[in-house]
Amino acid sequence: MSVTITLPPQVLRCINTLKTTGHSAYVVGGCVRDSLRGITPHDWDLTTDALPEEIKECFHAYKTIDTGIRHGTVSVLIDHMQLEITTFRTDGEYTDHRRPDNVFFTSNLEDDLARRDFTIGAMAYHPQKGLIDPFCGQEDLKKRRIRCVGDPIKRFSEDALRILRAFRFSAQLGFDFDAATLNGAKDCRHLLGKIAVERISSELSRLLLSGNPAKALEAMHHSNVLEAVAPALAAALPADRYFTVLDHSPADIYIRMALLLRCLPPEKGGSLLRELKFDGQTIHKVKKILTEIAHPPALTARDMRFLLHRCGPKTAASVIEVLIADRRIDRLARDMLQNTISFHPCYQIKDLAVSGTDLKKIGIPANDKMGVVLKYLLNAVLEYPSCNNRDQLLDMAVQKYNSLVQ
Ligand code: ATP
Ligand code: MG
Repeated sequence: MSVTITLPPQVLRCINTLKTTGHSAYVVGGCVRDSLRGITPHDWDLTTDALPEEIKECFHAYKTIDTGIRHGTVSVLIDHMQLEITTFRTDGEYTDHRRPDNVFFTSNLEDDLARRDFTIGAMAYHPQKGLIDPFCGQEDLKKRRIRCVGDPIKRFSEDALRILRAFRFSAQLGFDFDAATLNGAKDCRHLLGKIAVERISSELSRLLLSGNPAKALEAMHHSNVLEAVAPALAAALPADRYFTVLDHSPADIYIRMALLLRCLPPEKGGSLLRELKFDGQTIHKVKKILTEIAHPPALTARDMRFLLHRCGPKTAASVIEVLIADRRIDRLARDMLQNTISFHPCYQIKDLAVSGTDLKKIGIPANDKMGVVLKYLLNAVLEYPSCNNRDQLLDMAVQKYNSLVQ
């Protein structure tokens, strides 16, 4: 059955403009895959037999950007839409297991499709010529499976990042693996050591934030790929169904990362994230969540106030979400935290009804004793929120200060 994809007018203009100079151009990759799945693509990539300089010449009336001119990619801005146009190419030898040493431009579309990693991303489409699918990507889309173009071992050895791209696509699309592809990923996992850690963590983050992380993580674990990228985690994993909770949690990186690492002590979780070169904020927040979930709050407003004091509202909300997803606290905790935030907004010294200046005015000198007094007041307010009023706090401050100087 022939396939029709509705292309945006800018894409049609791009294809027609190249045609006026005798070149053919096709949409290719993720946008074809997503269109066939009935999803609007987030961007449109094109592939053409025009050389990069010819592409630029053809679009001289438009703004163009040399995105990756050496690899044949030029971006063109047409009516506020940025399109990436890449010359048909084949890849040379891969000696570093990540990037080809050289790329060669070709005039053959099939050669270009053959260099792509997975069948579902190795289809091209042309408004008159229809779908070009030499590797049966459409069938794999129907069967909902990730399959390498060609021999998996060869393809994963060329570029080991493809191993993680496979798990990431599986998580984003909710697809299974073709058996040979999964075996290939397993057999080539040692090559992940050749990949820049930043690329590994970026794929891992995208996997975690996807719609179906659990099954993909399970497959990563069983194929020992998880062990290759996060050995400390793989070694500490408890029994089955550890990952299931991730599918039922908000798609937030701190929450999902903490759920992923919840079997590790906070320090170990932090070290793993540091090794993977995650940014300082992510490491800090995830460690904080891991620390908190070791001693979950009780379902009381008091515990919620102290949680807010220790973490602030955003991280406290993440802690609650992690505990809810992990079924360690009732869902009521979510509302309880929000109510606490609305009704008792004081959980830091700066939120107290008195300030250091107020204390100075009643004769408390601005030294370390004032710090002790303010902390005492905050603790009292966290225990009894109704005492957060000026008169009561000033009385308490005097009493506390006197007890300190006696
Ligand atoms: P997404 O929706 O994540 O953008 P995508 O399929 O468009 O998915 P990209 O990473 O944007 O993926 O790459 C565009 C296309 O380029 C892919 O569909 C694939 O054909 C090809 N490609 C990208 N990276 C590789 C790689 N490492 N090895 C082989 N082919 C690749
Ligand atoms: Mg893309």
